[in-house]
This record gives sequence, C-alpha cells and structure tokens, in this order.
Amino acid sequence: MMTMKMREDIIKCDFLIVGGGIAGMQAAITGSALGMDVVVAEKADTRRSGSGATGNDHFICYIPEYHGDDFEEILREISETLVGPWQDKDLLSLMMKRSQEVIELWESYGINMRPTGKWNFEGHSMPGRRRYHLKYDGHDQKPLLTKQALKNGCRILNKTTVNELLTDDTGRVVGAIGVNIANDEPELVVFQAKAVLVCTGHSVRIYPGMNPAYPFNASNCPADTGSGIAMGFRAGARLVNLDIPYVHAGPSMFQRCGKATWIGVLTDYYGKPVGPFVTKPTRELGDVTADIWQTVFREKCRTVQDQYL
Ligand SMILES: Cc1cc2nc3c(=O)[nH]c(=O)nc-3n(C[C@H](O)[C@H](O)[C@H](O)COP(=O)(O)OP(=O)(O)OC[C@H]3O[C@@H](n4cnc5c(N)ncnc54)[C@H](O)[C@@H]3O)c2cc1C
Repeated sequence: MMTMKMREDIIKCDFLIVGGGIAGMQAAITGSALGMDVVVAEKADTRRSGSGATGNDHFICYIPEYHGDDFEEILREISETLVGPWQDKDLLSLMMKRSQEVIELWESYGINMRPTGKWNFEGHSMPGRRRYHLKYDGHDQKPLLTKQALKNGCRILNKTTVNELLTDDTGRVVGAIGVNIANDEPELVVFQAKAVLVCTGHSVRIYPGMNPAYPFNASNCPADTGSGIAMGFRAGARLVNLDIPYVHAGPSMFQRCGKATWIGVLTDYYGKPVGPFVTKPTRELGDVTADIWQTVFREKCRTVQDQYL
C-alpha cells in the first residue's frame, strides 16, 4: 500500500510559479531579479521539462535594425503564417515589441542567440517574404534558464505536481497544494504565496492522438495535461486565449513522440508536395504549409482512407 506523509512546514514565498517550462523559468528569473522570493514547483525537472525540453531552434522576434520600422507589416506577416490569425493582437504586439529585449536577456544567460555571429532568420516563412524567426541554438536553454534562476536565488522544487490552488475567504489565490515525489514516500506540500502564476503549458494530453497507436504523437509536451488551466478555473479564473488543439504533422516523422525537428517539405501519401509554397527541401525556408493548413494531416489521412478502406 502506498502511503503519503505531510510536509511539516508550509513553504512560504512572495511568488509561487507552478510549472517550470520556458514561461515559468522566465517568470522566475524576472521575479527574482525584481527582488522577490520566488519558488518554482515543477512536476518533472526544470532542466529538461515541458515543450522546450529538448531545445528549440527559432525565436519569433522583431529586431528594428534588421526588420525596419514597419511594425504593422511584421504583425501581418506573422499572423499569416505560424502564429495564425486568431491570436490576441494586443498581446502579440506586446510580445513582438519586447522580443529584442528578451533575446538580449537570453544572451546574457548564455543561450546562443546568434550561432552564425549575426541575426539569422530562417523557416516558417512564405518564400520571398520577410522572415521573423530568429534561428538560435536552444539546445541548452532549459539548463541555462534553470542555472540563471538558481543564480538569482529562486528555490526550485522538482518532482512536485501542484494539484489545487488555495483561495482565502474573498476568493483570492493565496497558495497551492501539491505532491512531491522526490523521495520514496510521496509528500503532501502546502505553499503560501503573495502571488501565484500558473505556467503549465498546453493541454496536449487531453486531446486524442493522431491515431490510437500513438497517443503521444503530439507536437508539444505530452506530459502537459492542462491541469493548471483546470486549477485556475476551479479557483474562479475567467479563461481567455485558450490553446487551440491541432495536429501538426512532420512529414517523415509521423511517430513523433511529441518531438521533431525541421519541417522540410510536406508531402502526401504518394510523396507529392501538398502545399504550393516549397516543393524542394530547403533549410532556409522550411515548408509553411503545415503552419497555415493545420488540418492537413487529418484531411490527407481521410483521402487515403476513402481510397483504400
Ligand atoms: C519539438 C518542439 C520544437 C519546438 N520548437 C520551437 C521553436 O523552435 N520555437 C518556438 O518558439 N517554439 C517552439 N516550440 C514550442 C515551445 O517549445 C513551447 O511553446 C514552449 O515550450 C511553451 O512553454 P511553456 O512554459 O508555456 O510550457 P512548457 O514548456 O510545456 O512548460 C510547462 C511546464 O509545466 C509543468 N507542469 C505541467 N503541469 C504541472 C503541474 N500540475 N504541476 C507542476 N508542474 C506542471 C510541465 O512539466 C512543464 O515543465 C517547440 C515545441 C516542440 C515540442
């Protein structure tokens, strides 16, 4: 029989962050740089967890010295490709306007944002149009974000799943409760915080896989269950800007286990390119077809099924 003990002390802090993915670690670094006492509760290990676990390779950004002053054009360009037209425009503008600042911060953490020595924009773009995906070396991004957070004095509790937010009589979130499984006997942990930020990633796990044999065949971290969104909702939050589920196919990597790399040319069952944009493999562009036609995999599967089944 499995037993669980209760941790004797309550973990108190200014700022509790639930989920130590890229968003959570950046919030931890920023909060601690502002002088807050920060705790991160992460159900895996912040050095290799979440959708950015194995590294990312492009960073959507706006560099005025490279892209010029026409900010509206860049917003239109990114809305027409990977980011999609349904995004919150104000949020997107804010993200783009602050992107260079974040790149400079990441460089200061030791993440190589210019592996070729200069700003290099590749992929997820229409051929012949302006590019906004900075190609960087993100192999070590999670260990380096973790290192920076620890350097700033953050406390990180790995192997700690947060299950519920705690509210006071007025409905204000004042902490959380979770389970730490770092040791043989699981431990119930109570957090008390002045502010709580939930950064538990996409809701990948709750959507069905592309086929029953590959439930983890998703383009983001299959361990992200959407638990943070549910917790927030139970604590009284209004849910906005929720993630949109889609099947993101990698042409030669249908069995992706949530991970893949470059998109290449998206081809159909017969090996013919499905989109009009890129018809020959090129590392410079990558094929935007999957970015802007996100049901392509499902539709192509259906065509093959109709023909053969
Ligand atoms: C293979 C791959 C390549 C990608 N390439 C790029 C790229 O080049 N450029 C780009 O911009 N984006 C890329 N992405 C997307 C990018 O990685 C994600 O958008 C980003 O990692 C999301 O960060 P996040 O912090 O919101 O969520 P995540 O990184 O998913 O972090 C969520 C964290 O919360 C933890 N967690 C979940 N539930 C709980 C709980 N209840 N209690 C405690 N902890 C919990 C998880 O373990 C995880 O560590 C890529 C994704 C994949 C999978």
